[in-house]
Amino acid sequence: MNDCIFCKIIDGTIPSVKIYEDENVYAFMDVAPLTKGHTLLVPKQHVKDLFEMPEEVAKNLYAVAPKIANAIKSAFNPAGMNTINNNGSFAGQTVFHYHLHFIPRYDETDGLKFKWETKQNEFTPEVLQQVASQITDSLNA
Ligand SMILES: [Zn+2]
Repeated sequence: MNDCIFCKIIDGTIPSVKIYEDENVYAFMDVAPLTKGHTLLVPKQHVKDLFEMPEEVAKNLYAVAPKIANAIKSAFNPAGMNTINNNGSFAGQTVFHYHLHFIPRYDETDGLKFKWETKQNEFTPEVLQQVASQITDSLNA
């Protein structure tokens, strides 16, 4: 895509700090890192998000994910790591070329905060079954 910043990074039009590259994927340092080692893994094929990702692109991308995660882990020995992908503006996606964040975690002050407010009371086993049925209906459609 002509105006896609990640396509331009992949083709070298825009410089990046490369971590890894093969015929299908490209991994590079996030220019606005949250922590030391914050890396992005992208498919070379322009794919907007997970919803539009062909199975073959997913296979090639996720096949490399453990290698990237382990390389960051070996380099910096973080306390943990979040791998995050945002799909859609509402979910925080700002570049509309699929990318998987690898964010090594070091301590509580590293800038990434999750606050999960679960709704177990609302989602009874019966409700969960209804929700699951709607999803499986879509899977089988
Ligand atoms: Zn792109």
